[in-house]
Amino acid sequence: MKKEQEEKQVWRGHVVVIPYPSQGHINPLLQFAKRLASKGLKATMATTHYTVNSINTPTIRVEAISDGYDEGGVAFAPDTDTYLKAFKTFGSKTLSQLIQKFETTASPVTCVIYDAFLPWALDVAKQHGVYGASFFTNTPTVTSLFYRLHKGLLTLPIKMEDLPLSIPGLHKLNYPDLPAFLKDPDSHPAYLAMLLGQFHNLYQADWILGNTFDDLELQFPAGEGVSDLWRGTLIGPMIPSAYLDGKIEGDRGYGASLWKPLDDKCKKWLELKPAGSVAYVSFGSMAALTPKQMEEIAWGLKESGIHFLWVVKESERGKLPQGFIEASKEKGLVVTWCQQLELLEHKAIGCFVTHCGWNSTLEALCLGVPMVGVPKFSDQYTNAKFIEEVWGVGVRAKEEDDKGTVGREELQFCLREVMDGKRSQEMRRNAAKWRELAKKAISEGGSSDNNINEFVSHVCSDGKKKVKEEKHMNGF
Ligand code: UDP
Repeated sequence: MKKEQEEKQVWRGHVVVIPYPSQGHINPLLQFAKRLASKGLKATMATTHYTVNSINTPTIRVEAISDGYDEGGVAFAPDTDTYLKAFKTFGSKTLSQLIQKFETTASPVTCVIYDAFLPWALDVAKQHGVYGASFFTNTPTVTSLFYRLHKGLLTLPIKMEDLPLSIPGLHKLNYPDLPAFLKDPDSHPAYLAMLLGQFHNLYQADWILGNTFDDLELQFPAGEGVSDLWRGTLIGPMIPSAYLDGKIEGDRGYGASLWKPLDDKCKKWLELKPAGSVAYVSFGSMAALTPKQMEEIAWGLKESGIHFLWVVKESERGKLPQGFIEASKEKGLVVTWCQQLELLEHKAIGCFVTHCGWNSTLEALCLGVPMVGVPKFSDQYTNAKFIEEVWGVGVRAKEEDDKGTVGREELQFCLREVMDGKRSQEMRRNAAKWRELAKKAISEGGSSDNNINEFVSHVCSDGKKKVKEEKHMNGF
């Protein structure tokens, strides 16, 4: 939107949305900003200098804040801990300046919607007397686990005799289902500290938002529902509108890409493949596989005889076995990045071999694509359990060693199971069912749409008084 047009428009309120600057966090928060804009709010995304130029979407204004590493982001920091501390220091200062900048305009900021990984943004919102909404990009189950840890209701290391973990309101969790940071707390202390830090000031948040939807979460025995430790408002799935309700005109992509997608090449290649015949393979934007794992995936795909389209990021390419691309070119295409949603939607795709990142999982659920789960990090293990055991939309590959390697035979077995094994049809039926429920949730009158409308009415200036009177809205 042009600046002059933006200034003339009468807005119902103005939200500033701040993601952790990675693809899997920018996507859902940007999508939420677009949803809010479609309901009459002005939405500004505030993101780091390094990522600001990767975002381009007509209805959202994008502004830069600093993480202290303006030239190269986290990759330029000596370690994660130093990066997160710098982001807090520089981010707080520059976010505050941004809110001040809007104070004298016709549309001062009414609410800061911040990624739960960045709790300092809530402190800034409160200093300026505006509302603060925490946006969780993980599932309620994962969030509940870290909240329990924060409260001392769960202690580390988790003892084998305490397994499976049986927590009211949550499905039973066995050792393989636990998030990586609970299984091996010393592996990434800075990330674990960040996950626990999500809760320290959460009692001050006016809303807690979750990128999922009621039907997906309320599947518990005896109607226990989402844990009483999680009273978030579920507003998801935050997937571009074209794949769900079609309500937001022209909304087919997230509008953010940290790498250049090779769409034409992928589409041309897919067009020549029979319906449902291709396995789409991606480990998301962050995972770094061991060379051994890359080799097993590579030869497993080739030996399966199934067509495959594999996203191997430039940084991972050196780990491909020598001669693999040439040897598999009859059946496979390897690209460095793509518009994942557009591929998942393609009729040639028969399954998704995924690392089970939450966005990828939601995208497959929303597009009705069954999955082979090969989790590698963080919350992906918990998501993989749900894919296989709770939602029945895929299988989870078994690891063959203590490094978490999935072997080539296991990958082939899983591919066959999902593509045309005994349970394949059932998985496809379940996938189609979740697709319909996801559409229903975000469509007019659905649970997430209602929750978003309620949120919008509170954020609007005339909703201010009402919010102040409703104490303890967030349940924390
Ligand atoms: N993605 C993409 N192109 C690719 C691979 C991934 O656009 O080639 C997107 C994908 O659609 C998803 C995001 O990157 O929205 C990855 O998020 P996810 O939570 O699945 O995993 P993460 O990268 O955070 O581990």
